[in-house]
Amino acid sequence: MLPLLRQEAKFTLRSRAWVSRLLYDKAAKKVTGVVYTDTRNGEEYEQPAGIVVLSAYVFGNVSLLFHSGIGEPYDPATGKGVVGKNYCYQLSRMGVTMFFEDREFNPFMGAPGSVMALDDVDGDNFDHSGLGFFGGSRMACGHSDGRPISYRPVPPGTPRWGSAWKRATAKYYRHSVNIGVSGSNYANRNNYLDLDPTYKDQLGRPLLRLTYNFVENDYRVMEYTVDVAAKIARAMNPTIMGPPRVRRGDYDIVPYQSTHNTGGTIMGTDPKTSVVNRYLQSWDAHNLFIMGASTFPQQPAYNPTGPVGALAYWAAEAILTKYRNSPGPLVHA
Ligand SMILES: Cc1cc2nc3c(=O)[nH]c(=O)nc-3n(C[C@H](O)[C@H](O)[C@H](O)COP(=O)(O)OP(=O)(O)OC[C@H]3O[C@@H](n4cnc5c(N)ncnc54)[C@H](O)[C@@H]3O)c2cc1C
Repeated sequence: MLPLLRQEAKFTLRSRAWVSRLLYDKAAKKVTGVVYTDTRNGEEYEQPAGIVVLSAYVFGNVSLLFHSGIGEPYDPATGKGVVGKNYCYQLSRMGVTMFFEDREFNPFMGAPGSVMALDDVDGDNFDHSGLGFFGGSRMACGHSDGRPISYRPVPPGTPRWGSAWKRATAKYYRHSVNIGVSGSNYANRNNYLDLDPTYKDQLGRPLLRLTYNFVENDYRVMEYTVDVAAKIARAMNPTIMGPPRVRRGDYDIVPYQSTHNTGGTIMGTDPKTSVVNRYLQSWDAHNLFIMGASTFPQQPAYNPTGPVGALAYWAAEAILTKYRNSPGPLVHA
């Protein structure tokens, strides 16, 4: 977008600007601008604004609302409040890897768009009777990268270092393929974002805190859908099949899983239970539009960025064709 935007005479890009809060006029239900620090010299500026688009990623969106006093923070004890509510996280790092002596693949040529994706056990695409869970997973089989350092699939039982490991990584680089499984994650009362009582940012303000764990529904989604992936893998008749990767036990933030965080400033039809309306317009400030996966009420198994972009276009159109002609709430609750 930047080359296009730069052709606009009125466009200015201000890089190295770290926004610390939005200026909020609660009585008028409007934001009047933002406060930012120029990170080159530490100087603070106030930028007045007619419309503010808050698009600082899931965690930035939520913490900026907290630091600006916009919207009621969610309280897990009472279930009241909205900012920080419905944090969800894609169930990931699941699947099964197969090794074939007699078949060759070219992982270095792989592109995510060329994988074969299956939605047979995703969302409501299948009969959940008697399964004891709702939701599901999407599966993808193929190569999305073959990076020489990070991509080193080896069969179970291979030593984790040394010459035997080196031989196995060379041998199986072109002889393995994976079915990756990513599951939906629905909101529950105990998973949420709030301000941390201990840790502070550079301005001495509380950092955002994430409280999250899997619940039984998540484990069942993972077990059922990974089992389906394993059946498909067996039918592909590999020489060696790796152990199906499912998860049990508490959530652990340390290993990289995915960056597909959602929720915290969710979209809805009622200001009592959501932060923005269907046009991503804040219920608490009609000239504030919040964009990003923080507006997703649930995590629907798929990666978020496609709908994030689509919703941004949808909201931009509403700003241009509706809001500019008649500033005010676009939806009356
Ligand atoms: C390694 C990795 C792999 C990924 N792979 C995929 C994938 O395969 N498929 C997929 O769908 N998604 C993927 N994602 C997720 C995807 O990148 C995000 O969903 C997407 O970028 C979100 O867009 P956004 O505009 O909401 O936020 P971002 O793209 O994060 O943009 C937010 C911007 O706000 C700026 N910002 C934040 N806070 C402030 C502040 N206080 N002041 C000023 N500026 C601020 C940030 O610098 C950033 O430029 C991946 C992410 C990562 C990290």
